[in-house]
Amino acid sequence: VTDPVDECNGDAECKWNPQYSRRWEEAVDAAPWDGEMKILDCPRCGHRMTVDAGAATTDALREAGEAVEEPAVAAALEDLAGRIEDDDELVGAHCNCRIEHTGHPTKPDDRRWGCGQAGAIRVPK
Ligand SMILES: [Zn+2]
Ligand SMILES: [Zn+2]
Repeated sequence: VTDPVDECNGDAECKWNPQYSRRWEEAVDAAPWDGEMKILDCPRCGHRMTVDAGAATTDALREAGEAVEEPAVAAALEDLAGRIEDDDELVGAHCNCRIEHTGHPTKPDDRRWGCGQAGAIRVPK
């Protein structure tokens, strides 16, 4: 299975893909916090994304998990959400770029789906 990061390699045209990638998670984790915020270029699609430690919830991960058809991908997202909720040292991060990546679920309309990547990263120190 191709790692989702290799599939795009910063290519803005890549399709929405919520398959878990440890490399994506590690790259987002490595980006510095500025207070409660991270602003970085998504390690997969290359678009600007943000993480807000104060506002980060696992809702977006669960929503994506419920919307995907592949059971293994959905299970990985559910595991990820559970891991974040069980550990005070972790917060959820997901690509929330404003660019339309084809293949994402259609609802809710106001959701910024990004390119589908999500992970658990360490809280700001
Ligand atoms: Zn993007
Ligand atoms: Zn992205």
